[in-house]
Amino acid sequence: MFHKLLFLQYIMQTVCKYCANILCESIIFFVIFVPKKQKINNMERIWSPWRSQYIDNLNDNDKKNKIEKKCFLCDAINSDGNSNKENLIVARREKCIIIMNKYPYNSGHTLIVPLRHIADFLELENEELVSIMNTIQEVVAAIKQLFNPHGFNIGINIGQSAGAGLPDHLHFHIVPRWNGDANFTTTVADIKIISHSIEDTRAKLAEILIQK
Ligand SMILES: [Zn+2]
Repeated sequence: MFHKLLFLQYIMQTVCKYCANILCESIIFFVIFVPKKQKINNMERIWSPWRSQYIDNLNDNDKKNKIEKKCFLCDAINSDGNSNKENLIVARREKCIIIMNKYPYNSGHTLIVPLRHIADFLELENEELVSIMNTIQEVVAAIKQLFNPHGFNIGINIGQSAGAGLPDHLHFHIVPRWNGDANFTTTVADIKIISHSIEDTRAKLAEILIQK
């Protein structure tokens, strides 16, 4: 930092010697240092402004669901096999289900959901953990076969403050990623291009996963 300040002083003395006051120093400081700061903070982000309506409604829905004791994941789990399509269920496993995310970050965004309605990650039993991790592997392999993405984000949001849309029922996210999938249309125009329909993706993944 010190050598940068010396460099700045050198510029002040040579280029700007007739105007070497605080205002001028401030301008040069911002020209030289602020872009650097922005560059440090310019990490790659996955933008999801199309989810904002969903997020805005979360509190209302959460209150309503608490009063009515409703959980759409439990509804899907408890539904019969004939309504897998309308509930966006891809496949069922011994201790969890695979379901498409209705508000995806990307094509192929799926959720792995334990059958038990629990919020606390520490409550997951060993058999559930094994079943969930095996299922995550299965789904990653199926998405690779179907879409061949460049990468994945796999994770779990615990609690509303961590971004959980439905904090009362744990669920693991699998989000396929492509180079440049958070591009200028997302940032500038609030438009996210999801290139595959959720229903089609559900059907194709179901075909791969149910055959196993
Ligand atoms: Zn539930």
